[in-house]
Amino acid sequence: MKALLVFAMRASQSDHPSSAHVRGQSTMTNRFITYRLTIRLRSGIHLTIGRFGNHYFPAGDYAYTGSARRNIEARIARHLRQEKKLRWHIDYLLSAPEAEIIKVEKFMEPECRINQNQSGTVLLAGFGASDCRSACGSHLKYLGRKG
Ligand SMILES: [Zn+2]
Repeated sequence: MKALLVFAMRASQSDHPSSAHVRGQSTMTNRFITYRLTIRLRSGIHLTIGRFGNHYFPAGDYAYTGSARRNIEARIARHLRQEKKLRWHIDYLLSAPEAEIIKVEKFMEPECRINQNQSGTVLLAGFGASDCRSACGSHLKYLGRKG
């Protein structure tokens, strides 16, 4: 399963030259500060997450936008790893066996700009937005059922 995830990530990078696969990437990697995960939830699930309590996440795709000013690759690798201490809201969703990261993109623009340009519906206000000062509402958006 892990091998599949990594493969999916690499495949998606080469499919999206506008974001992750930039010429001269080796010298520009440090400038990527924002990442977006596309997460596919195979079936609807209930999760209990901190102050949100118990919440239902319907099956379908989700876009999660986050940032790491330093070492974005390590942060992404952490998201791709299933076993970890649950720390951020997104950890709870990604730890569900029904959830799979199907795409990873990286950007040089601030996370809130990327998030606000992302279509989708906010299902859970405040999710992933503890550090948000741009009134995004949430850094997790529901894209509906695509797969
Ligand atoms: Zn924001």
